[in-house]
Amino acid sequence: MKQFNLVYEDDNAFLERLGEIQDWCKTNTSYTVVFRIYSQDMDKTHIAHVCQLLDDEWPEALYLGCTSNANILDGSLTEKKIILTCTIFEYPTTQAKLLQYPFLEENCKEDVRDLMRHCEENPWINSIEMLATIMDMSMKGFCDEMSKLRSDIQVFGGGAFNPNMDDEYAGVFSKGNGFLEHGIVFLLMGGEDFHVYSTFISGWKPLKRKFCVTRAEKSILYELDGKPAFDVYHKFLNIKKNDKFFSNTLEFPFFVEHDDVDILRCPLAVNEDDSLVMSSDMEENSVVRFAYGDPETILRSIRKDGQIISDFLPEVIQTFSCAARRAFWGDDNISQETVLFSNVAPTAGFYTHGEFIRINGDMLNFNVTLVLVAMREGEPKKKKGINFYDASMDVIEKIPMIWRFVSFIEASTAELEEMNRQMAITAITDGLTKLYNRAEIERRIREAFDEYLNGTAEKKVSLIMLDIDNFKKVNDTYGHKEGDNVIIALSDVLRKVTLGSSSCSLGRWGGEEFMVLIPENNIDTVVKIAEKIRAVFAETLFELAGHQTVSIGVTQGREGETADSLCSRVDEALYTAKKTGKNRVVKID
Ligand code: GH3
Ligand code: MG
Ligand code: MG
Repeated sequence: MKQFNLVYEDDNAFLERLGEIQDWCKTNTSYTVVFRIYSQDMDKTHIAHVCQLLDDEWPEALYLGCTSNANILDGSLTEKKIILTCTIFEYPTTQAKLLQYPFLEENCKEDVRDLMRHCEENPWINSIEMLATIMDMSMKGFCDEMSKLRSDIQVFGGGAFNPNMDDEYAGVFSKGNGFLEHGIVFLLMGGEDFHVYSTFISGWKPLKRKFCVTRAEKSILYELDGKPAFDVYHKFLNIKKNDKFFSNTLEFPFFVEHDDVDILRCPLAVNEDDSLVMSSDMEENSVVRFAYGDPETILRSIRKDGQIISDFLPEVIQTFSCAARRAFWGDDNISQETVLFSNVAPTAGFYTHGEFIRINGDMLNFNVTLVLVAMREGEPKKKKGINFYDASMDVIEKIPMIWRFVSFIEASTAELEEMNRQMAITAITDGLTKLYNRAEIERRIREAFDEYLNGTAEKKVSLIMLDIDNFKKVNDTYGHKEGDNVIIALSDVLRKVTLGSSSCSLGRWGGEEFMVLIPENNIDTVVKIAEKIRAVFAETLFELAGHQTVSIGVTQGREGETADSLCSRVDEALYTAKKTGKNRVVKID
């Protein structure tokens, strides 16, 4: 496999360079030839002209391309408006095939089905490169469908773009298929000697604090944790609604949790209603975290993950890098991310409107990410890749200041979260017995009863109410402390007897009164539990107070009544138990 990178500036120089490459092919083995064309020149006729030259001069060569935000040539951002890579496959086993379709949200699944048919018919296919116009499209349906492709096929690529990030005009094209403003091109590659390693690197790191997407539609993010989405940028990062919004939020885009992979999404703009225009789809109920990007952390990530690319010993490296990364670094510095790779193999690509890669079978649509594809034919020609990553960078003295701050923030957040957790528990717990307090058990009864009435849960609500018999006497005779012991002992009995059913809620209703909420609709089962509580408590021996007893009322929910009427009926059952001799269980069906 051999790759030549070239540019188109004028016909003469271009044709001369093509001639040189053709000469190389004559003296070396060459089978399939594929050109990729990336153009930040948005004039369709200029692109068509370059395609025509290829058609005329090298009719058997395949080509595909797209419009771009900017181009990467020999590992660096280039000012050249039209660049090309010429990949020459040197093994007869390697094959390549082009497919192009019109591409709209409504019909994108049909395109994928046709692609799938090609993949089934051609078992040699092991990787698919894609270029697509994706602006203003939800890519979810497309990605879901692509995830169904044969699991051993790698997919990677980028979204066509425009040098002007606000301009929606973009296009893709390929040999024999012309230029489409809404289109997708697939380059199918494979063969037993063709090896590909595709990966992605962001370099942005997540902070721990989580927010839930409570309202979103396609790429508009309306609410996080029930509040306007812009609030989090304003509150936590003091980012304002002004023309610096995009560049400020680029340092802190969102990580969206997607199975095991974190996907970056950046806010492009803020709307009047404080909703955010995001770089791609946002799904309701997904969890997002702030990601922080700082140059040093990003470069370290690239070096670390780039080592794997280098060790693959590729002959060609393709890059699909987000235009947002270019905006983040600025044109003078962006090339630091990719220039190293050109020491490994010819490296070229473009700045995209969205990066695509298939991870563990899942087709993912990234933003703010660098997708790298390393390709090789046959076994590696060298033994060892060049050294990318210097582990000494990680020694303790050299840890960047921002990492210390992040560590401080994470530790403080963890401490606050633990305090909040403790406070939330305290707020619903009775101090003496550690059962639920009155407010919480009452809330739980109402909640269970609401679910019972509106049919969201199975029709199962029963209550047990308990009151220790002659308790005043315990206090009066053996003191308040022993009274407390008796109360605590009854709570232990409740816990012990209901242990098997974790769905029971136990609460202290008042002084020595308790309530047990049981999701059970067989009243006889509930009476059995109550009877057991009564018996176990009656057997308990107290140091001073000897044996004590408890009276118990039992009832179950009825259609059409209120939670209050349910509670007063169980109270009535308990009252009857007291009146008829105490130390007994009385049920009202
Ligand atoms: P009955 O059999 O009819 O229930 O009679 P009783 O004596 O138990 O009467 P009642 O239920 O009215 O008595 C409640 C007593 O419980 C009154 C109050 O002083 C006592 N008490 C309330 N809370 C606590 C507590 O936290 N600790 C102790 N030791 N006593 C409490
Ligand atoms: Mg009482
Ligand atoms: Mg009592």
